Amino acid sequence: MNKCPFCGAYNVGPMNLPEGQHILLQTVNDDGNINIGAGYKVDLVACGSCKNMWLHSDGITAGKPEV
Ligand SMILES: [Zn+2]
Repeated sequence: MNKCPFCGAYNVGPMNLPEGQHILLQTVNDDGNINIGAGYKVDLVACGSCKNMWLHSDGITAGKPEV
């Protein structure tokens, strides 16, 4: 998480959110119904050089993040 995967700069870090807050990726089914209460808790990491952002989750194991 210390090196930008897009431009290679080391000017990266998590986006500032209120203390104890995270980003939630919400799920929706094929009919467009949002499954309230289900989702993945992730952090948003940003690069100050190229301005790209990406997601990070400490809970990922074998490509399947913990809910
Ligand atoms: Zn970058």
